Amino acid sequence: MKPSRKRKRNSCKEKGNLIDLFEKLNALNKKKLENDDDSTVNSKISEDNTDNSSAKLIDKTIIENEDTQNDSVLCKEDCKICKLESYVSNDWYTYLCEEFSKDYFISIKTELHKKAFYPPIEKIFLFSKYFDIKDTKVVIIGQDPYHNPNQAMGLSFSVPINVKIPPSLKNIYKELNSDLTGYSIPSHGSLIKWAEQGVLLLNDVLTVEKNKPGSHSKMGWKLFTQRILEVINETCNNVVFLLWGNYARSKSFLINPSKHLILESAHPSPFSANKFFGCKHFSKTNEYLKNHNKVPIDWAIL
Ligand SMILES: [Zn+2]
Repeated sequence: MKPSRKRKRNSCKEKGNLIDLFEKLNALNKKKLENDDDSTVNSKISEDNTDNSSAKLIDKTIIENEDTQNDSVLCKEDCKICKLESYVSNDWYTYLCEEFSKDYFISIKTELHKKAFYPPIEKIFLFSKYFDIKDTKVVIIGQDPYHNPNQAMGLSFSVPINVKIPPSLKNIYKELNSDLTGYSIPSHGSLIKWAEQGVLLLNDVLTVEKNKPGSHSKMGWKLFTQRILEVINETCNNVVFLLWGNYARSKSFLINPSKHLILESAHPSPFSANKFFGCKHFSKTNEYLKNHNKVPIDWAIL
């Protein structure tokens, strides 16, 4: 049985609700394994929840999960994957909370239990950490997280400081160097300082299996990131979308060009960089932001 619209909305009111629910479920499942007497479990639910509707929801969820044998609630210990959505920052959570109860998101959680993945779970939603959705100024869409150890950090094109700068990012730096006067190429590949200024560095797919590029492309993440783009398109005004390569360009249908600026070019990877160079997207972005009374991005701050 699908949860009602009303219940979904109620579950979105506070970030803690779903997470608390999973924590209680884990604790209760553990207790249940120890004690086959259902009446004990049910009386424990009542003790833990003064709110009757919560108790009913938990009870119902246990029954449903027993039917589906969903891994995500059968974890015996405190499991980070079961609480995946808790890593989305507060503001973004309120916009996206209805996604967390959808089949595709539950399926992502189930799949992530099976094999190790990148980036570390705490960093999957790092892009949501630095600013509220309404303050998004620029969106740079990537495809897949980096698939080698220590590279992926939850921001498209970015790698942690001390990790070798990937070829595509090197080319982005080269273009910046020719586009902006006084720009000097940084010695590292961390783009956190861009994110701090309202640049959303969003991959289309948010996890990947080690050394297997594209391995999670059918996991359901595209529905989640599409929702993010829809929310930005609806909620914000005068955002600049930088769509590099055919993959990113295929997202343009989600963006209203009368509200926002879409800049398209080839991808900065070595295979197509000769068509990327000269796009001058960084100066064009700042020109647009200034024209719409927004503080431009300091691209050189890294
Ligand atoms: Zn789990």
